[in-house]
Amino acid sequence: MKKIVYMDASASWLKPQSLVEVEVEFLRKFYANAGRGVCARAGYVDELIANSRKNVAGFIGAKPQNIVWTSGTTDAFNRIVNIIKNTVARKNMVVAVSDLDHHSARLPWEMLAKKKQCKIVVMPLDKKLNIDIKKIPNADVMVITAMSNVLGVLQDVKSIIKSARKQNPDVITIVDAAQSVVHSKLDVKKLDCDFLCFSGHKIGADTGVGVMYIKNPEAWDVDKFGGGMVNRITDNAIILNKSPERFEAGTLPLTQIIALPQAIEYLAEWDGGQDLIHFIYDELSKLKNIKILTSRDSCMISFVPKNMHVLDFGALLGAHDICVRAGNMCASWIHKKLNVDGSVRISVGPWNTKKDAVYIVNVIKDMVK
Ligand code: PLP
Repeated sequence: MKKIVYMDASASWLKPQSLVEVEVEFLRKFYANAGRGVCARAGYVDELIANSRKNVAGFIGAKPQNIVWTSGTTDAFNRIVNIIKNTVARKNMVVAVSDLDHHSARLPWEMLAKKKQCKIVVMPLDKKLNIDIKKIPNADVMVITAMSNVLGVLQDVKSIIKSARKQNPDVITIVDAAQSVVHSKLDVKKLDCDFLCFSGHKIGADTGVGVMYIKNPEAWDVDKFGGGMVNRITDNAIILNKSPERFEAGTLPLTQIIALPQAIEYLAEWDGGQDLIHFIYDELSKLKNIKILTSRDSCMISFVPKNMHVLDFGALLGAHDICVRAGNMCASWIHKKLNVDGSVRISVGPWNTKKDAVYIVNVIKDMVK
């Protein structure tokens, strides 16, 4: 492909060379399955997986036994619904969600509500479109999007959880950290959440790997069954492995897991790109034919062009070799709240330069003339 200006980091990061090298080396020299073999080579793969788990645990302030590998945030959210359903067989559970939620965080609960297996309560947003800390509802389960993928503002997750627990000490809290993981230092102990999830591919790791943090893994029933999670089966008992392995039925995405620490290391060296965001924001806010939905200090810029459909706008930027996200961004609720069908989103990563920022601004200026 032609060299492009890739400003779609919030959809998925480009991959650092160091990560590609770790994956290639593993596939070429060390590949074997994990958790099953007894030879030295299989033992080495077990060690690599354990190292990655330790690394990810350190990254979010958890212990290795709290880290469960998933295939991504969406996978984790769907799994959590089943984990909760399998463990807490309570009828009429009240599930609090918000309009900041991505489809993957809220839809699994919405579909259950359609079958009358739970009741959805939508948490109000304040004037700045943050979760209104003064109006946290009493709920059995709470889904908290730590950063909307449209508005790019960190939510005060710690206070939201504190407030939720004041009303119901047993509330089960689930944090969507898919976007916030890029822009903040996560500390699950401080947040005191029950579950927290993010995807590897949004921090520069490969696709197919994600992280599901579980505060008390032994307290929950598993949602999947298969190889690798069974300790032994006797005539009258099935004994599962301890956590986290009992949540990891089947062969894991080994290559992706093993390279994940490279992404974490690369992310740690990045300053967050806020200078570029400020420059683009200041330039775009001078244009009268676009309506910006985000604030200057958001971690991304979402806007609606007044003279063109958002999808046409995105495609036209594409024709200028610029990649951005356009459409409802799997976040229909916030667009509905803002009375728009969709938006165009600019987000940056460590590979973006001032030259990229000047280029996108000039192209957009030309398009909205
Ligand atoms: N949550 C948020 C806030 C997101 O931005 C995304 C992806 O765009 C997801 C969840 C889903 O992530 P994935 O597609 O990696 O499962």
